[in-house]
Amino acid sequence: MNAKHTSFCMAYLVGMYNAGSSGKLPENVACTIFKDVLSDFLEDFTLAPLAQSFSTTNKRKPNSYGIQSAPLDNAIASVDRRNGSLLAELILHCLSLGLESELDRLTGQIMIDTLESPVNIFEDICLPTLKLLVRKSDEKNNVVQNPVVQRLFQMVLSAFVVQFVRAEPAAPKNWSQPLVPGYCTCKDCMDMNSFLAHPSQQVSRFRMGEGRRRHLESQAVRYGVKCDTDRSGSPHTLVITKTRDSHKKAHLAWKTRRADAKKHLNEFDQSTLRVLLSNWYDPIIALAIGKLLPDVRSLTMNKSLPPLGPNRNSSNRDPGPITKRKTPTEVIVPDDD
Ligand SMILES: [Zn+2]
Repeated sequence: MNAKHTSFCMAYLVGMYNAGSSGKLPENVACTIFKDVLSDFLEDFTLAPLAQSFSTTNKRKPNSYGIQSAPLDNAIASVDRRNGSLLAELILHCLSLGLESELDRLTGQIMIDTLESPVNIFEDICLPTLKLLVRKSDEKNNVVQNPVVQRLFQMVLSAFVVQFVRAEPAAPKNWSQPLVPGYCTCKDCMDMNSFLAHPSQQVSRFRMGEGRRRHLESQAVRYGVKCDTDRSGSPHTLVITKTRDSHKKAHLAWKTRRADAKKHLNEFDQSTLRVLLSNWYDPIIALAIGKLLPDVRSLTMNKSLPPLGPNRNSSNRDPGPITKRKTPTEVIVPDDD
């Protein structure tokens, strides 16, 4: 199912439900059609095409990696909002009709999709869906107390912290730089490579003719090192200095992602979120990746949730294995560039 098809089906289902509840169609007819179409829709349901379509059409979006760019155009922004809202409404309608296995299938696939899709799935689809569910929760629809919905919040927000924020980039232990694949093996480059691999040498000087200096400089830029030309003497000298620029950039991007994540989490009503997340609340709010990672791994590897949250001392019910979804093989925790 492609992105347009997925959006269209969700809009159709929500429209059908609303036609029944508003009296435009007899309620039992609308309800029967809703259940039949939902059952077919869930056969192939996945959010992956939606996330991928945003990650390709949405490259200019100012994001958590510190890239400043032009604002989103309105069309994409409105599609973003609509998908999150449609998904939230589908979940609410499953709850109000008591469609437990459909709800389980729907929420189970959303959880798996958060682990397998481009990381924009959180900001573009999942977070808007969860925020709307909290806003629309009331005593009648039982959103907050439903264990399947609780599990959705616990796992999606755990995955959000693990996959989106990611671990703090570790400071390099020494000045050794790994070689970039496809490096040149001429004598000058081999000399430069020895310098790059050296754990304590930070600066090296290469005195040689212009052609060789240019070649060396063209290779050196791939390593993020600083190149200067010392013009005293003939021939001139290329001075290569190792820097911590790439680590600084990665660390800044990580801090930006942390700030973005905190902002998103603060947008939820905290008392409602506390009930929904139970034992997961504290580590999620603290962005404690180390505490969340085992549960996210467990979901990915075993296709079921561990019975208890990170604190291991609650009576939170285990809703059991998630049925019928595509099975990933490992948690992807991408490194910073
Ligand atoms: Zn070379």
